[in-house]
Amino acid sequence: MEKYDVIVVGAGPAGVAAAKASGKTGAKTLLIEKAPTIMANKPCGQATSQETLKTAEVKPEPDIVLNKAYAIVYAPNMNYVKIDRIGS
Ligand SMILES: Cc1cc2nc3c(=O)[nH]c(=O)nc-3n(C[C@H](O)[C@H](O)[C@H](O)COP(=O)(O)OP(=O)(O)OC[C@H]3O[C@@H](n4cnc5c(N)ncnc54)[C@H](O)[C@@H]3O)c2cc1C
Repeated sequence: MEKYDVIVVGAGPAGVAAAKASGKTGAKTLLIEKAPTIMANKPCGQATSQETLKTAEVKPEPDIVLNKAYAIVYAPNMNYVKIDRIGS
């Protein structure tokens, strides 16, 4: 039976970040995910902050990045949060 130092359950953003951090330490790491594909049950508005991209060490193509914008995010009860700063 294969042995691991760290087993991370769930390959959402948190699990992927944890597995990546674990792997960087040299720990033998296994990341397991129950969904057949990463997009199988993943609702998303497709918005990502510059900070998130930096943390994930992802460099998207420049023409898909909107540098200046704002957002208003509504909860089902119509409470909302206004985000004035997106991008740099
Ligand atoms: C409608 C909607 C729209 C959103 N839009 C955005 C957006 O535009 N931008 C943004 O940044 N965020 C958005 N979010 C928020 C974002 O989806 C969450 O913040 C993020 O997915 C949380 O990551 P997580 O790793 O904590 O959990 P999750 O993404 O939920 O990951 C957990 C993973 O663990 C897996 N898992 C659970 N149990 C097991 C098990 N027993 N064995 C194996 N695997 C298991 C699940 O299948 C899942 O893949 C949105 C959320 C919703 C609901």
